Formats: sequence, structure tokens, C-alpha cells
Amino acid sequence: MNSLQSIDFTHKTALIRVDFNVPLNDANEITDDTRIMSALPTIQHVLENGGSAVLMSHMGRPKAQEKEFSLVHIVDKLSHTLDRKVFFAEDCISEEAFKLSENLQPGEVLLLNNLRYYKEEKAGDESFAKQLARHGDVYINDAFGTAHRAHASTAVIAQFFATENRALGKLMGTEVGNAQRLLKNPKRPFVAITGGAKVSDKISILENLIGKADDILIGGGMAYTFIKAKGGNIGDSLFEEDKVDLAKELLTKAAENNTTIHLPSDSIIADEFAADANSQIEQSDEISTGWMGLDIGPMAVENYSAVILTSESILWNGPMGVFEMEKFSHGTKAIAAAVAQATNNGAYSLIGGGDSAAAVNQFGYGDDVSHISTGGGALLELFEGKELPGIKAISE
Ligand code: AMP
Repeated sequence: MNSLQSIDFTHKTALIRVDFNVPLNDANEITDDTRIMSALPTIQHVLENGGSAVLMSHMGRPKAQEKEFSLVHIVDKLSHTLDRKVFFAEDCISEEAFKLSENLQPGEVLLLNNLRYYKEEKAGDESFAKQLARHGDVYINDAFGTAHRAHASTAVIAQFFATENRALGKLMGTEVGNAQRLLKNPKRPFVAITGGAKVSDKISILENLIGKADDILIGGGMAYTFIKAKGGNIGDSLFEEDKVDLAKELLTKAAENNTTIHLPSDSIIADEFAADANSQIEQSDEISTGWMGLDIGPMAVENYSAVILTSESILWNGPMGVFEMEKFSHGTKAIAAAVAQATNNGAYSLIGGGDSAAAVNQFGYGDDVSHISTGGGALLELFEGKELPGIKAISE
């Protein structure tokens, strides 16, 4: 596969698929610029090596061409960060947009408006991809967050560029490299921490980690299906009846493959799913009807922290409880603290995107972990052992 370094960008226009799907407040101000900052190394590489850059991204889930999803809201921030004017095309495939990209001089930057203003983007439409391809001599995919989607701009477009004129960007390289570090030859012991709401979302990742990880710590709502599968009473906790057999299978498979699956010995239980519910500590397999487990308990925190602190490699995806409610956030916070401490002691820690990333940042440990991934779904799919369409398209 081509690397950025092998491409001569002199007087060339690089069409770069970035992930600028940043959160905006009601005044259309950017509330978290991580995704913009993460894309800078690739953009700067092109500009510093004599090229110009056409940037394309999606933003949110527009139904029509709603103004609130316009990428115009990020032009100022981008221009300020890159310290140069950023041209903007209101429509990503209008004649005016093509004129702007054709006239782009080395060092100049053009941002195209939201790709998802066209339904053809998500549909992976070939003729739409072909039109987008007119914007550049070279195609670079640096949008890790959407690398698991076979959309027009993330995968289908690659065929319109010669193999030597397409490459993965620097963010992609970093993200894939970090995942490989844990997937191939991790320093041991390797612990995977999984949580969140449902077993069904995490089945493939659990299956793929059995045999690879030494320990799997399970928290969040998904823990209760496992506890029930082992014969416990879980009251009104989250439960996926159709996943009981699978949970049993995973427990057996883990035992046969030298992976220890840990379940929370105790839980913080509540009498309703509410921030001000009555709550108490209970054994996770002795929860009465009328009560539900909404966080891992203090014993579980102690056991899980001990495993984390003796591990050399850590993967974390999914919160340990309903961390959005203060009362049920302590388990997730304590696990974030343990991961941070282990990292400071020399372990390598990779935090999956989405809720786990939000939790680590919310509790102030963002700088104390090795890497917070910019991709939730994409990272999960890498750990599920899948090939990402956005990466495959570049290498084919
Ligand atoms: P996921 O998107 O699958 O990672 O799930 C994240 C969501 O799971 C968060 O919004 C949490 O509030 C929720 N969650 C975590 N633990 C529990 C639990 N014990 N019961 C219900 N929801 C939970």
C-alpha cells in the first residue's frame, strides 16, 4: 500500500476524505475540535510538499440540505488553525466547486460542503464518486471514523485514481497501527475491558478477543445477561434473553482458550432508571425484582483495578455503568483512574471512541492514557477482525 511519503505532491491537488463530523452547539459553534486537529498532520504534509488540498467530509445526518449541517461552520476554525484562507464550495459537485478546485494553487485549501447532502454518498453511488474524483490528482483517505463504511467518498471513489495516486492519511496510519499493536503480539498480560448497554453489539469483539486477551473485564448492562446465564438473579437489570446461549458459549470458549472472563461480583442497584433513584450495593447475582444494576460495585472496582494494574496492554470499549448519571458513574470513573495509573506505570492503553472516550475525557484522564481512538465503530470492527472497506479500497 502507498504511503504519503511515496507521493510527490508538487503542483498536485490532493483530494482528502477527512472526518470533520464535529459536534456543534445551538449557535453552530464547535464544541469539540478533536477531529479537526487529528486531520491536520495529513493536510499539512500535502501543503508543505508543494500540493494543494481539497477537503471533503460528512456532517451529521441531514435529510435535505439543512443549513445546520453545513460545513461552512468550520471554515473559520480551519482557516485559523492552518493559518491560511480556506475556500469553501457550497455544493460538493457543482460546476463552481470544480472551478474552485481547478484553480487551486500550491499551498491553498478548499473545503467542500457536506457529502451527505447527497443520498448518493451513503449509497456508495459510482457516478457520484466519479464526479467527486474530478477534484483531485491524488486521493487520500484519512477518515478513520468512517473507514468501516463503503460510502462513495470513503471507498468507491478509490477506483478512479491509479494505485500510485491513492494513499491512507497519517491519522489512519496511527489508528490502524495502534490497533495492530494490541491485535498482533501485545505485551502481556493483555486486558480487554468491555461495557456498554448490550451484549448483541459486542458479540463479535468478544469472540475475536477470546484467545488473544488474557483477561476480559465485563461491565455495564451487558454483564447481566452473562450473570443470568450462570444462574444468577438479576432482577430488572438489562437482559437479552436471546443471547443467553451465546453468553454460555463464550464463557466456555474463553475457559478453553486461556482467557479469563471477569464479571462484576457486586453492583450498584437502583429501584428505577433515574438519576435520583434509590440505590444500594448488592451482589450482582442476588438482585431482587424491582431493582436493576446500573453500575459495577466497589468489590468489582477493586478486583477489576487489580487486573488492570498488573496488565501491560489495555483495550477499553464501553462504560461500566450509566456514567451519564452521577450516582452510577463511580465504576466507570474508577476504571478510568486505574487505566490512567497503569499507563503511567508503563502499560499501553487504547481507548475506543464513543462513550469510553467521552468518559475518559469527562473524568479528566484524557492525557493519562496512551491513545484515544477517533473511531468508535471503525475501531470495534478492527477488533472484530474485519477488513475496513476504506482501507481495503486503497490497497486493492
Ligand atoms: P454502548 O453504546 O453499547 O457502549 O452503551 C453505552 C450506554 O450504555 C451508555 O449510555 C450507558 O448509560 C449504558 N449503560 C451502561 N451500563 C448500563 C446498565 N447497567 N444498564 C443500562 N444501561 C447501561
